[in-house]
Amino acid sequence: MAQYDCIICGAGLSGFAAAIGAAESGAKVMLFDRMPSAGGSAVYALTPVLSGWNNGSTGSACGKLLADKLDSMGAFEWRQNKLITDEDSLQKAMTSLLSEHNVTTLYNATLCSVEKQKNRIVSVGVMTSGGMLNFTADTFVDASGDGVLSLLAGAEIITPSPEESMTKTVMFKVRNVKGFERETVKKLFSDHVEDFPVKIQSQFMGLPLLDKDEVLLNLTAVSGNAADPQELSVMYDQLTGQIEPIMEFLRKYIPCFADAVVTKVSPIAGIRYTRSVKGERTLTMEDIHNPQTPPEPVAFCGNYIGGHYIKQFSSPWGNEITGKPAVPYGAIKVKGISNLLTAGRIIDVDPKAISAVRLAAQCLATGQAAGIAAALKIPEYSELKKELDRQKCMQ
Ligand SMILES: Cc1cc2nc3c(=O)[nH]c(=O)nc-3n(C[C@H](O)[C@H](O)[C@H](O)COP(=O)(O)OP(=O)(O)OC[C@H]3O[C@@H](n4cnc5c(N)ncnc54)[C@H](O)[C@@H]3O)c2cc1C
Repeated sequence: MAQYDCIICGAGLSGFAAAIGAAESGAKVMLFDRMPSAGGSAVYALTPVLSGWNNGSTGSACGKLLADKLDSMGAFEWRQNKLITDEDSLQKAMTSLLSEHNVTTLYNATLCSVEKQKNRIVSVGVMTSGGMLNFTADTFVDASGDGVLSLLAGAEIITPSPEESMTKTVMFKVRNVKGFERETVKKLFSDHVEDFPVKIQSQFMGLPLLDKDEVLLNLTAVSGNAADPQELSVMYDQLTGQIEPIMEFLRKYIPCFADAVVTKVSPIAGIRYTRSVKGERTLTMEDIHNPQTPPEPVAFCGNYIGGHYIKQFSSPWGNEITGKPAVPYGAIKVKGISNLLTAGRIIDVDPKAISAVRLAAQCLATGQAAGIAAALKIPEYSELKKELDRQKCMQ
């Protein structure tokens, strides 16, 4: 049974940042994922558009590290507070940074058991094609997007209501798009929205990638329970089934798509929100709308909540965020399990405020904070803050 200082479940943006943060703090780190490489939703659900940066700030040292790496590969562009890249470059950049930080990575390894003693996790078991493997560590980070490590460890889970659960989407790319102009496309879309085949997707969402005749489309949408594998399988079929009717609509009503062809379809249903894990402190709606930063901040929040509602795009609680709300330390410390932290889209947040923490910039920021806290064995905030500052987090 291999022994680490810190084990991280999930190699999406938050797990990646947790691994880098922990390694920078001197920990021996293992990062594992059920997929064949790092990347998580950003790579496998085809969302290589990293948003959530406030006023161009990368929000975390890991965000900057990733942006610099992509820049050195000639594979990114800043556009309206978004970092645009492509999924292959993103996967390569993450892989290379993990290796530079001596993180041990294990892919094709699905978490399936957790051994606990009293209120501490002792080891995790992962299923691989070679059989079960077990690993022990002092601290663990759940960056699984679905909170599976916390669930198996018996943590308290917050399940969003169907209204709060956000739509699922299969992203797809099209080529041969001639002269895409965002405002014109949005206007034509809303002029003909009555004919759009997906009724709950009431506004155009999509943008050109680095190669300008290629557009990433965020237009399929269904609602349902992502934690139910059978329902998720049905949803994937429904989502991919929407693509051809959407293309017919685009070719008919929006001239720049007249000759567009589909070149890539995400192999998984993109899930925005499955569940949150109860922490020692919840990031509440009041925190979000309070211009004061809450005590013990570890990462800044994004600046919008309430999109991707299950009935139309904007939810009744959809809102711009003013001020500078932040995630409190307690929201990443799992209640009742003394050596477990969360990162990314599962941290303890009021479900209505999930969008304040689920975008790329915030996943990287909460990930890095969780990794540092894990490396320091979940210290008092004052000690964590010194290392957050040393690693230039929250900038
Ligand atoms: C359709 C869609 C469009 C989006 N568009 C944008 C956008 O434009 N801009 C933006 O900033 N954000 C966007 N997002 C949000 C953003 O991509 C995600 O919220 C973010 O990447 C989540 O990161 P994460 O690390 O928390 O989780 P994930 O990236 O989901 O990573 C979780 C990882 O855990 C692994 N895992 C899960 N269970 C297990 C297990 N049992 N064993 C081992 N590994 C496991 C998974 O394989 C995965 O790699 C979008 C999301 C979706 C779904």
